[in-house]
Amino acid sequence: PTILAIESSCDETSAAVIRGGKVLSNIVNTQAVHEQYGGVVPELASRAHQQNIIPVVTQALLKANVEKSELNAVAFTRGPGLLGALLVGCSFAKSFALGLGIPLIEVNHMQAHILAHFIDEPTPQFPFLCLTVSGGHTQIVLVKDHLTMEIIGQTTDDAVGEAFDKTAKMLGLPYPGGPMLDKMAAQGNPDAFEFPVGNMPEYNYSFSGIKTSVLYFLRDKTKENPSFVEENIADICASVQKTLIKTLLKKLVKASNDLGVKEVAIAGGVSANSGLRQTLQQYAEKYNWNVYIPAFQYCTDNAGMIAIAAHYQYLKGDFATQYVSPEPRLKF
Ligand code: ATP
Ligand code: MG
Ligand code: FE
Repeated sequence: PTILAIESSCDETSAAVIRGGKVLSNIVNTQAVHEQYGGVVPELASRAHQQNIIPVVTQALLKANVEKSELNAVAFTRGPGLLGALLVGCSFAKSFALGLGIPLIEVNHMQAHILAHFIDEPTPQFPFLCLTVSGGHTQIVLVKDHLTMEIIGQTTDDAVGEAFDKTAKMLGLPYPGGPMLDKMAAQGNPDAFEFPVGNMPEYNYSFSGIKTSVLYFLRDKTKENPSFVEENIADICASVQKTLIKTLLKKLVKASNDLGVKEVAIAGGVSANSGLRQTLQQYAEKYNWNVYIPAFQYCTDNAGMIAIAAHYQYLKGDFATQYVSPEPRLKF
């Protein structure tokens, strides 16, 4: 099937075209309007999606060299995400499908992050464990089949992406903080400072505490030396990053051992983190894992991942009706 897919859950307006499971185009417009606010402003995101959606879809069709008349279905992100942002993609997809008389497919954004692993080779073998780490979620998912997944552990408060972004903000790094912190960390000593992180039962996480510990650490250190942050920024970034990665992987190791699953993947925006990618490679050797790390373009939000999810849903006959509406807290 040839499918047009749309992603609009947060601050990326994206459209992709997939044919026979092969992504032909994947256009991503990251909204710049939020930079000056140091975070995503939901109302501005909705407005930017409205401005972007037609040009982004037009480009995706053009780049794929696909005519509207060749489409077999239109897919969109139903959730989770920001209601107003989701509404733009959902409404657009519904009218597009209605106008063309073709089926509609609703996609779960978090499942799509995982299914990004099926866009290109090598693809993981079922069952595999996926650590999904993004701006709003931190989950360990047991993936039994393309569309059968079970969340076995997750964060009880903040997502790890938030921990990256908030730490970066406290250090005065520009938005979006995660990638900046990653860059700074590469030049620092990860063992320079110690930060505590909450230990939750089973495969669960807590990342709200590290925020507070970084805040107090910076407050105390700058009292002694007002230019402490300037002088030590790379070491602080490296130390916080190391703590976050160690915490993430500890539970992943536990899950792998308990379940006897050695196929291990990472997904979501934070899977772009170079420290996490490197450490996972080391763990592959140490624990005899087959690890799967997405290409950078499929880590953060993109419609290519929505397209591959839609491809498998299409094959299963999993279609939505015109009565579908966005679900900001969509579960699976
Ligand atoms: P969700 O998928 O949970 O709905 P989202 O869609 O906003 O949230 P993504 O686009 O998947 O999130 O990921 C964005 C997050 O990834 C941000 O928190 C960002 O800082 C983080 N991120 C991106 N690149 C890196 C990096 N290199 N290092 C650390 N964090 C990163
Ligand atoms: Mg984003
Ligand atoms: Fe996302």
